[in-house]
Amino acid sequence: MGEVTTHTDNAKMVKRVIDMRSDTVTKPTEAMRIAMSNAEVDDDVLGYDPTALHLESEMATIMGKEAGLFVPSGTMGNLISVLVHCDVRGSEVILGDMSHIHILENGGISTIGGVHPRTVKNNKDGTMDLGLIEAAIRDPNGELFYPQTRLICIENSHANSGGRCVSVEYTDQVGELARKHGLKFHIDGARIFNAATALGVPVDRLVQAADSVSVCLSKGLGAPVGTMIVGSKSFISKAKILRKTLGGGMRQIGILCAAALVAVQDNVKKLEEDHKNAKLLADGLNQIAGLKVELSSVETNIIFVRVCENSNTTAPKLAKNLEENGILVMLDNTYRFRIVTHHQITTSDVEHTLSCIRQALTGE
Ligand SMILES: *Cc1c(COP(=O)(O)O)cnc(C)c1O
Repeated sequence: MGEVTTHTDNAKMVKRVIDMRSDTVTKPTEAMRIAMSNAEVDDDVLGYDPTALHLESEMATIMGKEAGLFVPSGTMGNLISVLVHCDVRGSEVILGDMSHIHILENGGISTIGGVHPRTVKNNKDGTMDLGLIEAAIRDPNGELFYPQTRLICIENSHANSGGRCVSVEYTDQVGELARKHGLKFHIDGARIFNAATALGVPVDRLVQAADSVSVCLSKGLGAPVGTMIVGSKSFISKAKILRKTLGGGMRQIGILCAAALVAVQDNVKKLEEDHKNAKLLADGLNQIAGLKVELSSVETNIIFVRVCENSNTTAPKLAKNLEENGILVMLDNTYRFRIVTHHQITTSDVEHTLSCIRQALTGE
């Protein structure tokens, strides 16, 4: 018995890991685990899982769209959305050159969907100039030479620009442009709740102009698995067929959807705190000699930190030092790393991190 007690004590002594590599690292909360164990389930491929149906209709309402579909990942959510809108092989999609779909999704829209990407330069704030988008739209009479434009995609918040938010006004303008040219409009809203929170806009208003949106449930919201795509009923019926084609039809997914329902109910309201912690961290880091954070770009929960070339360290060395102190960050390159706050990072974690980094750089 004495041994057991010792083990327990040791377990308690284990140092807490402050994991800020991403907001995907969040662990399911106790409330999620309970909801998962009590979830009512059935076969969702057959369309009978009550918890999945509940989550899908709840999310559709929150996002202001007719219907929703639970898919295994954000990558599949974007792939399905693009393919539904571009149902003719060789269609063209206009998207940002720094967008997640273009850079980080294995080129699936081309390799699997036969969709041709037409990239437009992403500005530092995550937008693309409207004039450049319009200029990239193909002449519909030039079909002998040109792939035909069918879709415009934007991303909000924009991950590669450091989680910056795209405004309602801009989103509406892209929507208008799409309608004017008979195109569809998709938002990669993996972190759309972060954007809505930071902008102080209801999320359904923010995505009003879009034909479809993909929303990650397992990033800032903290569910263990899943993305929700939303759009019209006809969009979702086609999406459901593609999800099956891609191998994303799953059976008793109520187990996962139950956790996502808790995530939406409990964690959307915590995003504001995550953003406050990110600002606090960014501000503190910027005051440490040898580091540089562009404070104006920290609008949500992502911070890119530059290690100055004339400092006494590099990003990999600093990351290793932090790891020894139980603090995890994401390396970008020799002089840059990324920190992401989420609901399992507290203000005291932020203060502890700042003091470890200060110690590593200045010895103070
Ligand atoms: C994470 C992310 C995705 C894809 O999500 P996965 O679930 O990892 O496939 C898509 N878009 C953006 C902007 C993301 O940050």
